[in-house]
Amino acid sequence: MADIFDQIIKGEIPCYKVYEDDDVLAFLDISQVTPGHTLLVPKQHVDNIFDYTDDIARKVLLKLPILARAIKASDDKITGINIQSNNGVSAGQTVLHSHWHLIPRYDDDNLNAQLAPTIDHSADFSAERYQNIANQIAKEMEKM
Ligand code: 5GP
Repeated sequence: MADIFDQIIKGEIPCYKVYEDDDVLAFLDISQVTPGHTLLVPKQHVDNIFDYTDDIARKVLLKLPILARAIKASDDKITGINIQSNNGVSAGQTVLHSHWHLIPRYDDDNLNAQLAPTIDHSADFSAERYQNIANQIAKEMEKM
């Protein structure tokens, strides 16, 4: 059975998309640990980093700094970013389709400097707020 990210990639489940090309999709994480929390996923299904070929690594990892810059540029209150990938259930991976969390950091976000993306703020986000954030990041991605 397809995992939830396979379904998002196929368009069967909606997402707040910020970037897409032939190889990767980037969209807002529903939990929004901080505003702008984005997931970067390879379109080709791989469970996690243990299954990466050099080709998948090139396609996905080269996008990380570009996406990070777009996220930072989308809001001048963003001063840092945590990039994390959980690989394996023992490491906290809950969706078995490889993904990279990009979690923007704000000087006043009151989170620990290092954090696992296990915080759920989705109750604070209306559809309009998600869409506005996704649009801002997508606009910056077009300039990268
Ligand atoms: P993991 O715990 O595997 O590192 O991260 C999985 C992430 O997927 C979680 O942060 C969770 O909020 C996010 N997530 C789970 N289901 C959905 C969904 O249907 N849509 C979106 N956008 N994110 C999801």
